[in-house]
Amino acid sequence: MPVRIRSGAVAGIAGQPVTVEVVINRGLPGYHLVGLPGVEVRESRERVLAALRHSGVRVPPGRITVNLAPAGERKSGASFDLAIALGIVAAAEGLAVEPGAAARLRALFIGELSLFGELRPVRGLLPVLLDAASRGSRLAVVPASQAAEAHLAPGLRIVAADDLRQALDWCRSAAEPPARLAFARRRGLARPPAAADACAALAALTGHELARKAAVVAATGRHNLLLVGPPGTGKTRLARLLADLQSPPDREDALTITRIHSAAGTLADGRLADRRPFRAPHHTVTRAGLVGGGASLRPGEVTLAHGGLLFLDELAEFHPAVLDVLRQPLQDGHVSVVRGSGQRNFPARFQLVAATNPCRCGYHGSDTRSCRCPPHERARYLGRLSGPLLDRFDLFVEMASWRGAFAEAPGPPATGGWRSAPRPADLEAAVERLVAWRRDGGPPRAGGCDGFLDRAREALGLSLRAVHRCRDVAATLAALDGDARVDERHLREALEFRRDLTLRALD
Ligand SMILES: [Zn+2]
Repeated sequence: MPVRIRSGAVAGIAGQPVTVEVVINRGLPGYHLVGLPGVEVRESRERVLAALRHSGVRVPPGRITVNLAPAGERKSGASFDLAIALGIVAAAEGLAVEPGAAARLRALFIGELSLFGELRPVRGLLPVLLDAASRGSRLAVVPASQAAEAHLAPGLRIVAADDLRQALDWCRSAAEPPARLAFARRRGLARPPAAADACAALAALTGHELARKAAVVAATGRHNLLLVGPPGTGKTRLARLLADLQSPPDREDALTITRIHSAAGTLADGRLADRRPFRAPHHTVTRAGLVGGGASLRPGEVTLAHGGLLFLDELAEFHPAVLDVLRQPLQDGHVSVVRGSGQRNFPARFQLVAATNPCRCGYHGSDTRSCRCPPHERARYLGRLSGPLLDRFDLFVEMASWRGAFAEAPGPPATGGWRSAPRPADLEAAVERLVAWRRDGGPPRAGGCDGFLDRAREALGLSLRAVHRCRDVAATLAALDGDARVDERHLREALEFRRDLTLRALD
């Protein structure tokens, strides 16, 4: 009799529900797979038949037809293997007529099979399970190696099997696979110790107050930061410190980050993300690599950086058309990927940190080597960065004379507040204050703030967006200072970080 088994795959970063239908008819032995299967799915025939034999199941004689529904959607991946194998057994043995087994066969079955019947992990398990749970599924059979990841999906009972035989035993007789769920308890969401090290490294950064302040402000308010300076001035080092200073994600963000990395196959240990991601694509990255797409609709770097930090080193070396696609995610917090007739939105809300040389040779303004670029070349180099892109940065720091400024060992604990000796506790308190202000519709502002900004806008030729960003940076400064409201002092300091004005004036 025909059998239906529920399964699923990942498409983009979302789950795609798929029903596997199996029917075995009398006739010449054969195996037919229909329902728009991709290459990996078509190859399931060899894996499934070998795994069945190796698990002691006699492949039933006759013509086996497997249909993947809905037929109109392309299926890819190997996550249906387990469901297909179980469907064949259930159809051959009439398992579905036995009430207990019939109930168990209504579970969701996900897993790739090896030729020996072992269950292998699949990409995107978490999004598949979250989708199934949202459609009312309550029970799922998954590869034991992904038990920890599967348990992140709320409301689902998980049966974790090592191989096809265990999954079959459970279907036939409710025999639970041996409990081997020694997966580690979810780590707490405490700020990782890396933050203390990063703070110590910043405190030891002598002779460059503006860079240190900018780093603390950027980390606290998640502001976008552009670093300009010759090679070897610590731009990359500073970006990595910023990654360490990121506050841990809350539960909801953590689940989204984990879901994205499950779909992309970049989830390391199947645990809930307790850190925000740090992505640093090379400047040769393609448009699709940055925003996602391709035949399997994989998320790109901007989505992999969602909830975390995207670091673009050598910003002026990126292809202008590639940089141009950053505009949408920077504005909307998501990116649209078009594929065939459909369009998908991937989340892409990240903090942008970029670094660039001041000129092609890299040494303009350096105190160690002199620049060899002709003046018109120099202007053209940073001119590659479009005004709309530069407008998305809140903080600009030049690191021209910064050679050796990072001490190898952290110095003695300094005093003097977050400006000279930042501590993780300072950052946390400021983040809490910012969150509270945002909840209340913005920080209280001292009188005269708006007038001051209007004057600054006219005198400095700031765009409206730049003014808005100055206001945000000023709020972060006030929060770090522990002040009850934003005043002109904070706005002035925020304007100091708009060094793009100096950059634009750079010969
Ligand atoms: Zn140069």
